[in-house]
Amino acid sequence: MQDKNVSTSPLRTGDGLKIPVQYIKGVGPKRADLLKQMALHTAEDILYNLPRRYEDRSNFTPISKVTSGQRHTLKGQVLTFGLKKTKRGISVFQVAIGDNTGVIYAMWFNQPFVKKYFKVGQKIILYGKVDMYDVLVINQPEYEILDDNDDGEDSAHIGRIVPIYPLTKEVAQKFIRALTKKVVEDYNRFLHDTLPTKIRAKNKLVDIRFAINNIHFPTNNENLKRAYQRVVFEEFFILQCAIALRKKDVKTEEGLSHRVEGELMESFKKSIPFELTKGQAEAIRHIENDMKDPKPMNRLLEGDVGSGKTIVATYALVLTVQNGFQGTIMVPTEILAEQHYLNLSKILVPLGINVSLLIRSIPDSAKEKIKQQIKDGDADIVVGTHALIQEAIEFKRLGLCVIDEQHKFGVTQRDVLRRKGKKPDVLVMTATPIPRTLALTVYGDLDISIIRELPPGRRPISTYWVEDDEREKVYKFVGEQVKLGRQAYIVYPRIHESKSSEVLAATQMYDRLKDEVFKDFKVGLMHGQIDGAEKDKIMTDFKKGEINILISTVVIEVGIDVPNASVMVIENAERFGLAQLHQLRGRVGRGEHDSYCILLSNPTTKDAKKRLEALTETVDGFAIAEEDLELRGPGEFFGTRQHGLPEIRFGNIVSDMEIMEQARKEAFELIHRDPGLNAPENKLLKEILYSRFKGRAGLIHVG
Ligand code: ADP
Ligand code: MG
Repeated sequence: MQDKNVSTSPLRTGDGLKIPVQYIKGVGPKRADLLKQMALHTAEDILYNLPRRYEDRSNFTPISKVTSGQRHTLKGQVLTFGLKKTKRGISVFQVAIGDNTGVIYAMWFNQPFVKKYFKVGQKIILYGKVDMYDVLVINQPEYEILDDNDDGEDSAHIGRIVPIYPLTKEVAQKFIRALTKKVVEDYNRFLHDTLPTKIRAKNKLVDIRFAINNIHFPTNNENLKRAYQRVVFEEFFILQCAIALRKKDVKTEEGLSHRVEGELMESFKKSIPFELTKGQAEAIRHIENDMKDPKPMNRLLEGDVGSGKTIVATYALVLTVQNGFQGTIMVPTEILAEQHYLNLSKILVPLGINVSLLIRSIPDSAKEKIKQQIKDGDADIVVGTHALIQEAIEFKRLGLCVIDEQHKFGVTQRDVLRRKGKKPDVLVMTATPIPRTLALTVYGDLDISIIRELPPGRRPISTYWVEDDEREKVYKFVGEQVKLGRQAYIVYPRIHESKSSEVLAATQMYDRLKDEVFKDFKVGLMHGQIDGAEKDKIMTDFKKGEINILISTVVIEVGIDVPNASVMVIENAERFGLAQLHQLRGRVGRGEHDSYCILLSNPTTKDAKKRLEALTETVDGFAIAEEDLELRGPGEFFGTRQHGLPEIRFGNIVSDMEIMEQARKEAFELIHRDPGLNAPENKLLKEILYSRFKGRAGLIHVG
């Protein structure tokens, strides 16, 4: 969250900008309080409070040329005015305004006080929607009364491209606009340029004063565009400088150098029960190179659900063990930890590798023992959840940290785990495929490997969206699949029913389904409130086929791997996000059987419909990610707030991608040239980077 008590403007500049808002003319303590609620504390904050959008009110239309139903900007003289009451008791204030082409009537309803502002003969400008009745009418227009010798050229509100600011309820658009105009006029001169002149010239960027002037009160559309580009470039540039500095920091550290060849690796390679896909082999090659290199590995492995990331991670873990180090893999849920633990043990214990499990729900005595083994270096590979970073755990010699399903963790958590060792190698994995250019921004300090294909022999998952009244048919289909020997998941958005909502809940549906619809089958129930040991048992039973149908909530969203499961039914599917639905679907289609994902839903919103349609149209995780990004916007998509990533205030990382790429290029070049930012022209930039990013949320460590 942005701290409302701290000014967050990107430019720290002359001290004149730091004047508190209440000392700006026309503000005073009461309005200052309202401004503070909008995080506007200083003149600088106001300069950087960018308009949400603009309205082009730059051309005055002669009254004779107006079109009914359109918005127009008009200039004229007050001819007459009067206050009336309708039969229903509504007060109507009506002003006749004329220019030398015609007459129009401006009307205000239930605002009798407006009357006191008007005098016959005044010059006035108006903006609003025009309607044609017997006469021309402009309803509740924005208006500005001009001084005798004022031609309206200098108005903040009318007769120009007008800024529309984001507002809270109590603050009027007109007030903010007028205040901003004043602040731009009086304080703009205190702004200094953060961007080194050379970079500005090369990228044809306007200077900061011009930019701030025109972003609020653009003289024309071209200048508005140039102003916007400048401000966004600067924002992205500062962010990318911070990313470049962090990357450089990691890369100049001396870490561990792993020997890649060896007996243990040979035996491990022989024990892999399948042939690696091209993407897996390539990722492994990258990882080997990184781990050989004494500089710490900092790599992101992206691959759709089911693409086989686990074996790649296992490879890296064995590699670190071969070199006498410990490895750890952190996952977001206990179920997943348990599953990885079992799978790893199966292949690695025969090779003499000691695998341990560390999760919150194991008994304290056992936990203490495991912690001791980790400390003594007897535990070679530790599989765990958040418990790995929450509990006091010390590794004897940690060589590699793997973070699975990275999108479920924060950046800070990645760092906490890393600090359990002395510059260990780090591999983070995610099944939320992020378009590459965006990954550069959000995971900008990581090297990236992508597994694009699924292992061979997978059958495509057929996805259907059906409405609730077909539920019984869906159940019948599930029953048929189970009779064929398959297994099914039925997922609900909630654990328990709630009185206020019609959304179905897992526990209640479990009671119904196990005793009625599926009484001939073994039905299990899984959700987040079931305790750890019980959860494990249910999952193990499901894996062994002792449960046919698992009724669940989204706790099974990530990682669960039961190749015999062929049906995923998602009830109230409109309640889930697109990425989440895709992840859930990824729980089936993991074996050689034809698989089905059935979305039961009667969505009421357009977005929900789009999500469901997108899901039925493609199984490609990258396409889904792009669609999701478009539907939810970058903030939601990345969960930036939750993950402590810096907030992007001005630019849009989707539509301004080109600016981002350019800013990134310049930033990386600059940091390469002047890593200490010691050149005089980089002084201001350095100050900003320090004050803004140092120690913040672990993303960026400057200096
Ligand atoms: P994810 O990338 O979603 O974590 P997993 O690592 O769980 O995927 O792999 C999914 C399934 O595919 C597992 O059952 C795994 O054993 C299997 N698998 C992985 N790689 C291959 C391969 N190259 N050939 C065949 N099966 C594979
Ligand atoms: Mg996985």
